[in-house]
Amino acid sequence: MLIVDAHEDIAYNVIVHGRDYTFSAQETRAREAGDARTLAETGTCMLGLPEWLAGRVGIIFGTLFTMPIHYAVSLGEGAQSWAYATPQDADAQAMQQLDVYQRLVDENPRFALVRTQRELDTVLATWKDDAPDAERKRQIGLVMLMEGADPIVKPQDIGRWYERGLRIVGPAWVAGTRYAGGNGAPGPLTDEGVQLLRMMKDFNLVLDVSHLSDQACLEALDRYDGPVIASHSNPRSLVPGPRQLSDDMLKALLTHDGIVGILPMNPMLRADWRRGDRKDAVTVADVAGAIDSVCQMAGDAAHVGLGTDFDGGFGAESAPAEIDTVADLGKVADALKVRGYGRVDVEAILSGNWLRLLRRSLP
Ligand SMILES: [Zn+2]
Repeated sequence: MLIVDAHEDIAYNVIVHGRDYTFSAQETRAREAGDARTLAETGTCMLGLPEWLAGRVGIIFGTLFTMPIHYAVSLGEGAQSWAYATPQDADAQAMQQLDVYQRLVDENPRFALVRTQRELDTVLATWKDDAPDAERKRQIGLVMLMEGADPIVKPQDIGRWYERGLRIVGPAWVAGTRYAGGNGAPGPLTDEGVQLLRMMKDFNLVLDVSHLSDQACLEALDRYDGPVIASHSNPRSLVPGPRQLSDDMLKALLTHDGIVGILPMNPMLRADWRRGDRKDAVTVADVAGAIDSVCQMAGDAAHVGLGTDFDGGFGAESAPAEIDTVADLGKVADALKVRGYGRVDVEAILSGNWLRLLRRSLP
C-alpha cells in the first residue's frame, strides 16, 4: 500500500534548521542532538529519505512556508532570522524554498516534482512492486503547497507561481495574511483574498483551508468552486480551539467534496495532552478515531487522509506511542482495520483520496 502525506515543511527546515532530508531520521537526530534551538522548534526528527521509502510514503505535499516578522518576534530571537516584513520579502523566501525542492530533485534521483498528471504517473509507476529492480527505483513525488499566501505579492501573480509548479494554496497561516484571517488572528477573507480565489480558479488550483480563521474558512468555501482540502487539520470535536475544524467548517468542506488531512500528533488528538506529557498516552487508535469521526460525518471513507506535519513544530516525543518516524505511518492502517475498516477504505484513506484530488486538479 502506498501512503500520501499531505503536509511536510521540508524546505523551511532545510533553510532554517539546516536539515538534510537525504539522511535518515536517526542520522538527523544525532546531528541535532546538541542543538537546543532546533530541538525546541522541531522536536525529535521523524523524517528522512530511508524512512519515507521504508514507510512507502510515495507522495508528499511539500510546503512553501513563510512567517510574518510580527509573529516571529513573539516566538523569540531565533525565529526572527527568517521571517518577512513585506510581501516582497515573503516572495523571495518562498522562491528560496522552491529552489530547495528543485535542488533536492536535481541532486537526487529519488525525488521528483509532481506538477502534472504525467509526472504523477511516473512517480506512481516506480511503486509498482512488479517493476524490475522495484526497490532501487522508487521515487518520492513532491507537490508544492504554499502555507500562507503573502508571497503572492498580487493576486494577478498567481500565474507566475503556477508556472513555477505551485499547485495548492493555503491563503493564511496562524498569524493571518493580507488575504485572510488565520486561526491565531481572526478575520475575514479580505477583498484581495476574494480576488486571489478568483485567480486560483482560473488555474484550477487546490484551496487549502488549514489555518484559516473560522470566518475566512467558511467564506472561502462558500466562494471557491475549485478543489478544496484541509491539508493538516483535525476535528474540533476532539480538541477544542481555533486551529481545529468546527463541525460547520467540516460540513462545508464535505459539501464541496473536500478532503481532510488528519495529523497523527498527540496535542491535536487529545485535548488534555501537553508537550512533555508521556508519548504513549496517545496511540494510533486515537488517530483511527479522528479519521473515523470525519468518515462518520461524511458518510463514507472518501474524504479523509493523512497530513502529518511531522516537521511542523512537534517531533517524535509528541507522536502517538507506536509512531517513532514516518516509516511507522502504516500502523495507522492496522488501527483502522482493528476499528473495522476494510482494505478498500483503508487504501482510500492512506493514499487513494489524495490521489483522487491530484487527478482532479493537476493539468
Ligand atoms: Zn501548519
